[in-house]
Amino acid sequence: MEGFSPAGSKSLAGILRALVDFPGYLTYPREGPKRNDYSGKEASMMSSDTLIRLSGFLCVLSLMTLWEILAPLRPLSAPKLRRWGSNLAVVGLDTLLIRVLFSGGPVGVAVVAAQQSWGLLNYLGWASWVEVPLAIVVLDFGLYLQHVMFHAVPAFWRLHMMHHSDLDCDATTGVRFHPGEVVLSTLIKLVVVVLIGAAPVAVLSFEVLLNATSIFNHSNVRMPSGVDGLLRWIVVTPHMHRVHHSVVPKETNSNFGFNLPWWDRLFGTYRENPALGQIGMTLGLQQFRDPARLSLARMLALPFVGETGNYPLSREG
Ligand SMILES: [Zn+2]
Repeated sequence: MEGFSPAGSKSLAGILRALVDFPGYLTYPREGPKRNDYSGKEASMMSSDTLIRLSGFLCVLSLMTLWEILAPLRPLSAPKLRRWGSNLAVVGLDTLLIRVLFSGGPVGVAVVAAQQSWGLLNYLGWASWVEVPLAIVVLDFGLYLQHVMFHAVPAFWRLHMMHHSDLDCDATTGVRFHPGEVVLSTLIKLVVVVLIGAAPVAVLSFEVLLNATSIFNHSNVRMPSGVDGLLRWIVVTPHMHRVHHSVVPKETNSNFGFNLPWWDRLFGTYRENPALGQIGMTLGLQQFRDPARLSLARMLALPFVGETGNYPLSREG
């Protein structure tokens, strides 16, 4: 892209220039010297990607399950084994689908973006200690906006309502997402990764972090209110996210964050507690109260045959 030069890219003028010259920073410098040489790191990161993610998933799931057994907050309303079977089968299906459709996944795309110097951060060339945390925060903000969109657009809500239809909220709810939603959110993530030029290590860290925090903030665990109150300033806690799983639409329409709790506070979607309290509240969706609808096949069919109900961002609740 003519006119682009990395000189001065670390200064404020460099940032402004890159923004003004959009989408130049997406393509600069295809032929020029690569800022990052991922030839060695690429192979090891790609091969250990699955192992790191799987280990993180099993480790956090085991830990939160143990916490749920030792100190559960709410009695479960639906048979646990059946729910767990369906929820974990969905994770298996999602993982398989993503592997088939996007073999390298977001990390693979980040490697290509780094090699080609695509994206804002690859253009700016900041130090890793600034760039990696910044990319993680931006990816998290993107996820917040995406979550709001999944509540606002009726067709997307159809996919997302499978996640909300769980009659209980526990560690496995955190990974219960319809394959259609997972494919769509992966596509969105790929676009965001390329646009911002997130480093592969930032994308991998974000993926592992998101998986861990999603399991954590959906878990049915008791936690002293003082600890919850403090943690809420740095991470979305189970008490905070549980409000989002209330059957009351105006409560479902709050606390969209998954990792960082700041977006909800900044954009006015933060709600401290459900009106009926953490134990008195009802979880799930009003239109799906029958545990018999929890079978894997019926869950997968939900977006196509289920009633949308009062999807939160379009109707009053
Ligand atoms: Zn939601």
